[in-house]
Amino acid sequence: MSLKEYNKKRNFNETPEPEGRSDDSNQSRFVVQRHQASHLHYDLRLEIDHALKSWAVPKGPSMNTQDKRLAIQTEDHPISYLTFSGSIPKGNYGAGTMDIWDNGTFSIYDNSEGNALEQWRNGSLKIEFHGKKIKGKFGLFRTREVNGRAQWLLIKKEDACATELDYDAEDFSSTAKKKVLAQQQQKPFTLQLPLCWPPRGRNRFRNPAGFTRSNGMGIALSVRYKEEPCN
Ligand code: MN
Repeated sequence: MSLKEYNKKRNFNETPEPEGRSDDSNQSRFVVQRHQASHLHYDLRLEIDHALKSWAVPKGPSMNTQDKRLAIQTEDHPISYLTFSGSIPKGNYGAGTMDIWDNGTFSIYDNSEGNALEQWRNGSLKIEFHGKKIKGKFGLFRTREVNGRAQWLLIKKEDACATELDYDAEDFSSTAKKKVLAQQQQKPFTLQLPLCWPPRGRNRFRNPAGFTRSNGMGIALSVRYKEEPCN
């Protein structure tokens, strides 16, 4: 574990982010932050080996087993970053707004290939999230290296929490929702109708009507995943 790179990238007189210090706690917590920087992305962080192992996930996590979400490994962050949200001023590393999108704890559901740290080192984590939005089993696999950064894939595993419906992390972001709402208020003729047919497959029981999203042109008919309790 080293927070050297984290500290080197930041000027703590300017950024409200916490300074990188070692921390003895090890409670298997995780956070997913929505980071509206020069490019919108999500940051996934897992408490492993007294720091937060971190990835930038451009599209955010998905509960759909068909999605393979690219996760680019970034520098370890300090444990205190679990609760960080705020605005990183212009000119600083990661300048923009950081919101907490989801948090909770995680466990390793199959430790035949070692504990979380060993699996992270081996590039293959078999992880179960206990969050409010991301739940159940996932695989997190290292695939290759691009520009010195390890690329991983975050993939939902088939279980009671998984969905076959379209999943867009932005639909569950309170910040993004406010933006969509503001846009809709400027378009008085946009309609939003409930879907009349149930989505196919086993998800119809958990998401009987789905919900629609306006595309600004009228009515959008894509069936999307709705937050439902599972485990
Ligand atoms: Mn970020």
